[in-house]
Amino acid sequence: MRASPSSPGAPGPTCTLGAHSGPGAPGPGGLMLGMRGISSAGRYVLGEGTRLGTPPPPPPVPCSPVLGRLPKHHPDAQKRSPVARTGVFQVFSVVHNKASPKRGRNLNRVPSSEILASCLSCCRYLFNCGEGVQRLMQEHKLKVARLDNIFLTRMHWCNVGGLCGMILTLKETGLPKCVLSGPPQLEKYLEAIKIFSGPLKGIDLAVRPHSAPEYKDETMTVFQIPIYSELKRAERQPSQSPERLSPGQSSDSGSAENEQHLPDGIGQKKSGRDPTLVVAFVCKLHVKKGNFLVLKAKELGLPVGTAAIAPIIAAVKDGKSITYEGREILPEEICTPPDPGLAFIVVECPDEEFIQPVCENATLRRYQGDADAPVALVVHMAPEHVLADPRYQQWMERFGPATQHLVLNESCSSVHNLRSHKIQTQLGLIHSDIFPPLATPHRQEEHTTFRVPTVRGECLLKYQLRPRREWQRDAVIVCNPDEFIAEALELPNFQESVQEYRKAMQDGPAPAEKRSQYPEIIFLGTGSAIPMKIRNVSATLVNISPDRSLLLDCGEGTFGQLCRHYGDEVDRVLGTLAAVFVSHLHADHHTGLLNILLQRERALASLGKPCHPLLVVAPTQLKAWLQQYHNHCQQLLHHVSLIPAKCLQKGAEVSSPAVERLIASLLGACNLEEFQTCLVRHCKHAFGCALVHTSGWKVVYSGDTMPCEALVQIGKNATLLIHEATLEDGLEEEAVEKTHSTTSQAIGVGVRMNAGFTMLNHFSQRYAKVPLFSPDFNEKVGIAFDHMKVCFADFPTVPRLSAPLKALFAGDIEEMEERREKREVRQARAALLSGEQARGPDDRTPPQKRALVEQPRSPQSKKGQTCWMGRTAATWHGFGPEAAGRKNRDNWELVLTIFKEAARKTQHGLPVPVTCSLCTPAPSWVTGRWVVDTMSEYSGLRE
Ligand SMILES: [Zn+2]
Ligand SMILES: [Zn+2]
Repeated sequence: MRASPSSPGAPGPTCTLGAHSGPGAPGPGGLMLGMRGISSAGRYVLGEGTRLGTPPPPPPVPCSPVLGRLPKHHPDAQKRSPVARTGVFQVFSVVHNKASPKRGRNLNRVPSSEILASCLSCCRYLFNCGEGVQRLMQEHKLKVARLDNIFLTRMHWCNVGGLCGMILTLKETGLPKCVLSGPPQLEKYLEAIKIFSGPLKGIDLAVRPHSAPEYKDETMTVFQIPIYSELKRAERQPSQSPERLSPGQSSDSGSAENEQHLPDGIGQKKSGRDPTLVVAFVCKLHVKKGNFLVLKAKELGLPVGTAAIAPIIAAVKDGKSITYEGREILPEEICTPPDPGLAFIVVECPDEEFIQPVCENATLRRYQGDADAPVALVVHMAPEHVLADPRYQQWMERFGPATQHLVLNESCSSVHNLRSHKIQTQLGLIHSDIFPPLATPHRQEEHTTFRVPTVRGECLLKYQLRPRREWQRDAVIVCNPDEFIAEALELPNFQESVQEYRKAMQDGPAPAEKRSQYPEIIFLGTGSAIPMKIRNVSATLVNISPDRSLLLDCGEGTFGQLCRHYGDEVDRVLGTLAAVFVSHLHADHHTGLLNILLQRERALASLGKPCHPLLVVAPTQLKAWLQQYHNHCQQLLHHVSLIPAKCLQKGAEVSSPAVERLIASLLGACNLEEFQTCLVRHCKHAFGCALVHTSGWKVVYSGDTMPCEALVQIGKNATLLIHEATLEDGLEEEAVEKTHSTTSQAIGVGVRMNAGFTMLNHFSQRYAKVPLFSPDFNEKVGIAFDHMKVCFADFPTVPRLSAPLKALFAGDIEEMEERREKREVRQARAALLSGEQARGPDDRTPPQKRALVEQPRSPQSKKGQTCWMGRTAATWHGFGPEAAGRKNRDNWELVLTIFKEAARKTQHGLPVPVTCSLCTPAPSWVTGRWVVDTMSEYSGLRE
C-alpha cells in the first residue's frame, strides 16, 4: 500500500491513498458525464461502456472532410462557458466488444469488455475513452465540442484506445483546451500520437497526473485517488524485459532495418509502464443554492421586480433570514432548500490484485460513512469475478442503502450501434449472404447478486443526480429488427426491385457455381476519416482459406467490427489472422491495430494455441508509435513482426536477412506467391498492395490514393481491385486537394488495370449510407458496405444489387443529388458573377437579341431526349430538382455544360450564341445575365 498525497489538506472528501495492484485484467471502459445548461437542477446520468473512435485525418493530408463535424468557428465549438449553476448533468456509459467472458480471469493483459461513458448534450467530462467512443457519440448525437475533461482510470488500451481519434477530432472542432487526468503515462501516450499526427497545434492538451491537486470547476470538484495493486511491491524492479524489444529477437517486431528509423531515443528508454496503477475518481457536485420563489415573495409584499430585490434574493439563497419592513422572513419561506453536494465515484478494479487495495483505501472509505457529501452513485468497472468476491461485496455494502451502484463490465450486453444493425438488417433483405446478420449480444451467464441497489450498465442508461436522484431509461436503446424490416418493406419500389433483381438472377446465366468460397472478403470499415454510425473507418478482412486470414488496414474499432460481424466466433477468426497490411499512418487506417494485437493474443491463449508473431506490413514509421506505446503504456510488441512496406516494392533491395525471413514466412503463412507494394499518391509513405495467391487469384488494395499509375502496374489483371472512392464525381478538385479519388477515377483505375472486378470503399462520411452512383458504374463495379461479405463468385451478383440499393436509399440519394445540383449551380453562378464583376454592371441584352431569348426555337429532339433550349424560363422547372436529378440527369448535365460555356463566352457582356448539341445546330442568343437569372430561378438561389 502506498499513500499518495493527492490533494493536500483537503478535508473529508479529498486525499488519496492507494494500494497496489496487479496487471490489468478485463478492462472496463469509461463513462462520461456532462451537464446541460438547462434551467434547474443538476442531474447526472450514467450510461454503459462503449468504444468507438475514429481517426480523424492527420493534419498534413486530411483524409477527407466529414459532414456533421463542427467547423472550427461553429458556435458550439466556441461556447466555452459552461453550464450553469443550475445545469442538468448527465452521465452515461456504454459497453461493447466483449471478448469471450470465460477468460479474463487468468489473462491479465486483456480487457474483456470495453466501456465508454459519455454525457448527453454538452458533454464535458468523459471517463475513459475506449475505441468506438466517438462513433457512439456521433450516433447518439452527443456533441464533443465542449468535452474539455477526460479522466482515465488506467493505462490500458480498453480505456485509451479511442483517445487518439478523439483528440484529433477535438482539435478539428476547435476546442481550445482539453485536460487528461489519470495515470502519468498519459503524457507519453500523447507523445506517441504526435508520431503520426504531427504536432497537435491548435489544441492545448494538458495532462493532470493523479498527484496533481484536485480539479474544480463551477460544477464539481474531482479528486483523483491512485490505487496500486498488491503486486506493486513485489514488482519494484524495472518492468519487463526491455531486452525483448531488441532488434533481431525472434518474437519482436524489429528488424535492424526498422530500428534505424526510430526517432532518437525511442526504443532505448526504460519502460515507464505501470500496470499496477489504477486511478479512481471522486466527483463532488457543489452545493446548489435553492431557487427563489417569486410568487411567494410577491405574496409577502417583497419588492419583486425592483432593484431592491437583488440583495434579498442573494441573502435567502445563502440561507440567511432577512428583515423587510420590520418583518423577519426566513429563507425557507421564499426559497427552495439548497441541494446538497452529492458525490459520485468512478472506480476500476480490473482484477483480484486490486480488490484489497480498493477495499482498504482510506480515502474511499471516508465516503462510506457520514461524509459531508453523500455518495449517490458508485460506478464499478470491474469484471464479474471481482464483483463476486466477498471482500468487494462487503466494500460495496459499506456505502449504505442510499447509494446506487452501476456495474460496467463484460456481462453488460446491449446493442449500441443501432444504425449498423438497422442498415444490415435491411440490406439483408436484398441478399442475406452478402449482407449477413450482425451478431447480437446475448445475456451472459448468471450474474453475481448484490445486497445493495445495483444496476447493470446498458447503452445510454442514465442516472440523474439532480434534481431527483433516479435511473432514467428513456435513452436506452431498443433494437427491434422487425421494425427495420417493416420500414424497408414500406419504401416505394423496394420490394419490387428486390423481386426483379431475384428474377433477373434466376433468369440470367446459371449462377457461377461457388467453386470455392475463398478468398472471402469482409469489409469491416468502409468510411473515411472518422468513424461514423453507419460506416466505420478502414479495415478489410481477407479470409484466404478457412484457417488463414489477413487484414487490409485496421482503423479504430476494427476489433469491435469483428465482434459485431462474428459474435462468439471472433476468437477463432483472430486465431486465423496471419498478417496485417497497414497502408499508411492516418488514424483511420492504423489505430485499431493495437487492439487487434492485444485481442489476438488473448484469443490465442483462450484457444490454447501458441502465440506466434503477427506479421505486420506497414510503413516503418508505424514502429515508432508501437514502440512508444509499448515502452510507456502497455506491453504489446512481443508478438509483432514488422515488415517495412518499402521492402516489398518491386526491385527493393532487402538488405536484412531477418526481413527476408519474415517476407518468406508471410508468403508461406498466407499461401501467397507474391505480396507486392507500391508507393501511392496520398501522403508520404502511403502504400498500396497486390497479393497473388498460389492458386492464381490476385487481390489489389489501393489504400488511400489519387489515381496512381504505380498501382495500375502492380495490379495488372487483378481478379479484384479494392479501391478507395472517397468523393463523388464532380469533386475532382477537392479530391486532388485531399489526395483521394473520385468514384469514376477509381473505376478508371480498375479499367486500366484490367481488373476482373472493382469494389469501391473508403467513402467520405458525407455519403453515410450509400455513395452517389456514377454513370461509370458497370457490371464490374460494386460498392462496399460495412459487414458486406463477398467472394469471387458473387461478382456477377454485386452490380445487380444497385436497383434494390437505390430503392432502399432513395431518400438519401435524392438528398445527395440535390446537394450536388445546388453545388454545381452555385459554382457556375459564381463563375458567371465573377466574370460580370470583372466587366462592370452593364450587360443588358440588346432588345433585338432579347427577343431571341424569350422566344426560343421550338423544341426539337434527338435520341428521344428533350432539348433544354426549346424550353422557356417558365417551363424551366421541368428540369427542376424533381426531375433533373433522376430522369433528366443527362439533360441537366448538358445544361450545365452549356451554361458554363455561356458563362465563359459572355464575360464581355455581349449576348452569345449557344448551341444545344441535341438540336439542329441553330444557336440561341443569351447573355450572362439571362443565364444567371434562369439558373437562380431554377435553383431557388435568387436573393
Ligand atoms: Zn483514409
Ligand atoms: Zn489517408
